[in-house]
Amino acid sequence: MRTVIFAVLFFVLLLIFVPLIIGSFKTPLPNNLDVDIMVKVWLEAESRAVNMRLGDYLVGVVAAEMPASFNHEALRAQAVAARTYAYRRLKLYGGSGCQKNNADVCSSFRCCQAFYTKEELKKRWGSKYNEYYYKIAKAVSSTAGWIIVHNNLPIDPLFHSTCGGHTENSGEVWQKDLPYLQGVECEYCQNSPKYYQTKQFTVSQAAALVAADQSMVLPVANLKATLPRMSVNKRTATNRVAELKIGSIVYKGVNLRSVLGLNSTWFTWKLDGDKIIFTTRGYGHGVGMCQYGANGLAQNGYKCQDILKYYYQGVEIKKISAPK
Ligand SMILES: [Zn+2]
Ligand SMILES: [Zn+2]
Repeated sequence: MRTVIFAVLFFVLLLIFVPLIIGSFKTPLPNNLDVDIMVKVWLEAESRAVNMRLGDYLVGVVAAEMPASFNHEALRAQAVAARTYAYRRLKLYGGSGCQKNNADVCSSFRCCQAFYTKEELKKRWGSKYNEYYYKIAKAVSSTAGWIIVHNNLPIDPLFHSTCGGHTENSGEVWQKDLPYLQGVECEYCQNSPKYYQTKQFTVSQAAALVAADQSMVLPVANLKATLPRMSVNKRTATNRVAELKIGSIVYKGVNLRSVLGLNSTWFTWKLDGDKIIFTTRGYGHGVGMCQYGANGLAQNGYKCQDILKYYYQGVEIKKISAPK
């Protein structure tokens, strides 16, 4: 009887521990994560350029642009977007290079795309460093060479954190209305902490901030009286605020967003005594891939290519190789 119990117990323990042990041996990453070319990266923080392999550069970009906790397929979509962006800059492929610095790309999100070095990532991730680095490196290596094309040309792979329910047409934000950057409905970013957010100011605070905008001609005293009575003059096709009427002045929604530091131009407001309270939907310009939406789609079974084709219309995924 005792032998039977021991045998059963042994078997149960085997069932528990064998998968755990096997799971802890991850397949080693390839030496070279992507197309075998070197990239000259200007590090903003250190004011110097370093040469690194494309794959290593892309890991640092994806790590800087998307939370490492996101779903594998969302990280893969971000990796393909990052590679597409890099492709348009890389001099080896006839790209423009970073126009501000003497390099292919720089680490500033304002100029090129954000990039963190391994040292920066160790500081940010702490004890999660190995797990997260491996996860993102997998997203890069499993999409090696993939870029997004429209009519066989690499696209401008714009993205933002959270659209708030509908992405925006590129023409509403910039001069150029690109066929693959049209707004789509997105019900997948509702888990974003910035899906709805409020921000409040006293009327005096808001008036001072708006008056500081170079394009604003009304003085603070006038704004204190007119701001509480402002109205929406024009909305974009996706309901974001394109223009406001403040007193007799027409003022751009993107300008108000910028001076008040609002999450997006998709906002409403209400007055409460001497306070003005804004409620925003989403975070960012709203054009292209919604990152929280990409994560939501991935959790619903969408693969990397499906996610990219959802947010960039009429595109194909193409594989590039190192130039001969
Ligand atoms: Zn740059
Ligand atoms: Zn979204």
